[in-house]
Amino acid sequence: MKPSDLLTDHFRVDTPHQKALKKLKIATIEDLLYHLPARYEDISDVQSVAGLALGQEAVVYGRLSGLKTRKAWKSRRPIAEGYIEDGSAKIKVMWFNQPYLAKMYSDGMYVKVAGKVAGSEGKEYIANPEVEKLDSLPVDRHDSIFKNTEDLDDTIYPIYRETKGVTSKWFYHHALKCFEKGILDTLEDPIPSEILKRYNLPELKTALVWIHSPKKAEHAESARKRFAFEEVFYIQVQKALDREEVSVADTYTIKTAKKHVAEFIDRFPFTLTKSQDRAVAEILKDFSHRPAMSRLLEGDVGSGKTAVAATTAYAVATSRPPEGMRGHSLDIEKTKSTDLEYGNLQVAYMAPTEILAKQHFESFIEYFHHLPIQIGLITGSGCMKFPSKVDPTKPTKISKTQLLKWVKNGEIPILIGTHALIYKSVEFKHLAYVIIDEQHRFGTGQRKALAKKDARMPHLLSMTATPIPRTLALTIYGDLDITLLDEMPSGRKPIKTEVIGPGQQEKMYESVKKELKAGRQAYVICPRIDEPDPDKATALRLKSVTAEAKRLKKDIFPEYEIGILHGKMTPSEKDKVMKQFAEHKIDILVATSVVEVGVNVPNATNIIIEGAERFGLSQLHQLRGRVIRGTHQPYCYAVTDSKSEKTRDRLKALKTAKNGFELAEHDLQFRGSGELYGQKQSGLTDLGMEAIKNLKLVEAARSEARGLAEKHDIATDFPLIHHKLQTIQAELHME
Ligand code: ADP
Ligand code: MG
Repeated sequence: MKPSDLLTDHFRVDTPHQKALKKLKIATIEDLLYHLPARYEDISDVQSVAGLALGQEAVVYGRLSGLKTRKAWKSRRPIAEGYIEDGSAKIKVMWFNQPYLAKMYSDGMYVKVAGKVAGSEGKEYIANPEVEKLDSLPVDRHDSIFKNTEDLDDTIYPIYRETKGVTSKWFYHHALKCFEKGILDTLEDPIPSEILKRYNLPELKTALVWIHSPKKAEHAESARKRFAFEEVFYIQVQKALDREEVSVADTYTIKTAKKHVAEFIDRFPFTLTKSQDRAVAEILKDFSHRPAMSRLLEGDVGSGKTAVAATTAYAVATSRPPEGMRGHSLDIEKTKSTDLEYGNLQVAYMAPTEILAKQHFESFIEYFHHLPIQIGLITGSGCMKFPSKVDPTKPTKISKTQLLKWVKNGEIPILIGTHALIYKSVEFKHLAYVIIDEQHRFGTGQRKALAKKDARMPHLLSMTATPIPRTLALTIYGDLDITLLDEMPSGRKPIKTEVIGPGQQEKMYESVKKELKAGRQAYVICPRIDEPDPDKATALRLKSVTAEAKRLKKDIFPEYEIGILHGKMTPSEKDKVMKQFAEHKIDILVATSVVEVGVNVPNATNIIIEGAERFGLSQLHQLRGRVIRGTHQPYCYAVTDSKSEKTRDRLKALKTAKNGFELAEHDLQFRGSGELYGQKQSGLTDLGMEAIKNLKLVEAARSEARGLAEKHDIATDFPLIHHKLQTIQAELHME
């Protein structure tokens, strides 16, 4: 047995299991071994049903059956009851005065039940138990797995990330079988042993045994730390390599006179904030020398990143390539107006959605219309160019072929677009500057893709309003220099945020009505698109975009225009709605959070966020950022049905936190699963996210990775690490 062998080479895996494993992207023995438990259950407190005695505090795992509700025959009190069965025996469970409980569970469901054994000898039942639903009975203690375990008190069993069709038990069994077949002897540790020793981390073989079948909680902990380190370490090595690649590549050096840029800035209808000024200066300085810039511009929504992008784009689009490279760049069709200077350096500006790409295109037209600089727009639904030949004050639709031709010959120095920008067919003449707005993976990959046909490495500015904690920044922005826009343009009023609990809606709607009456507009954010799925109990409580829009029109805001916007609409449908909202033909826009970044409607000053408890705080912060665009007082209402004190307290941080970063740190410490913004983008697993809570671990992984990349050629000196990095890269590109 080798790590690269397919599971099916060694085990009989039936079709349902195969399907499920495919979903979890597990094909090889190595995949299986690296499918790590998400947590452990300590079964030292678990009793078998057969062993329960009257008066005991019981914790049992089992399957529910015979659920029903009835009335107690004397008191007529409502009673819900049923049975739990664990393979050893079954026992009755009863809830008094809570008949609805029986409806929350159903026969056949796997549960953990905790409560006191009451009743009388021979008629025992567990009274008013707490019930926790389980996807399956992970590992059943009556099973063979534990029969050799002498001391059950020490037994903890692993719970894996499961999917329909494979259980934790399956993973556990198969990991053990691999151990039995001697897999451990074939494994080589990719992490150099002196690094492991420095941080007191177990080597691979030990760590695998400890993580899949720990005898002690400390062992599991220690193994988890090792794998967390390993995950962050690989990312850091990759970042270090990326940085090196950029540092040796040739780039366009751009020297821009301050005065030249000042003329451009002077035309803005506002003066730049100090932060914006500083950001522009830093970027221009980076432009002026090798290596190519790799910079992240991080600033809350509304902090004015577009103006920074436009100013620096101007510096590039008015610069010429070095003498030797001009060659036939001026060899373009004579039919074009002659005062345009063709063959200047080029800028690619990529936005995450069509709406945003269009919005940037329009902003750029505003900023550049007085200049002989053409601007192109490319999105999935078509291409445009400014200015139009017919009316030089307006943009015009053009064919993709035409646009690409003008980009390729250098006639269009600024190209704005969505993902369509990085299609193979888009070629530049002198691409010198790539701006990425709110994108996944923070730009480095996109720059690589864009620069593919250009000999020189373009400068990169990645922009984000996503506030992330420092440790996460160190990890996923490991190869970028960071500039913060930590100042809002003057005249902005701080947002008033309220947490709205059950029964407080009426007051909220009154306030919003007052604002609508005064001519403002509002967003209502809902967690779902369509009518809730009636089968799912939790779904019932989530408001859907369509249903909520109907309800608001009928019951709350009959006199106002209500529009809807969600991710399942086509780009042109979305566009139409956004346009209507921007032109105030719609007063209230009911939308999902999918449509979340950057959309600019200054007159929209109210945002109601339904199901707020489902979002991370930093995501809520981003959502409310949409209403701080204008100079009117903005309001945010975070609505939750949750009666949990903890949930409400968490949301209240929105009122007190000074900025998005503080909220991001909060999310990191208190997040439920996947609440932290940036996890998906960063490609981190849950274990990796755990690691991010530990600054020391992240810093250690980073410095070790940099050291290794500086002193060695990874591909030849550390082939195992090299191989891992390639696998990770391949996975990232598959998504
Ligand atoms: P974001 O950082 O979220 O991308 P934008 O660049 O879209 O922010 O800017 C938000 C709004 O603020 C725009 O309407 C823009 O014109 C305006 N703005 C940008 N900089 C300033 C400034 N220094 N003073 C006043 N308004 C500004
Ligand atoms: Mg923006």
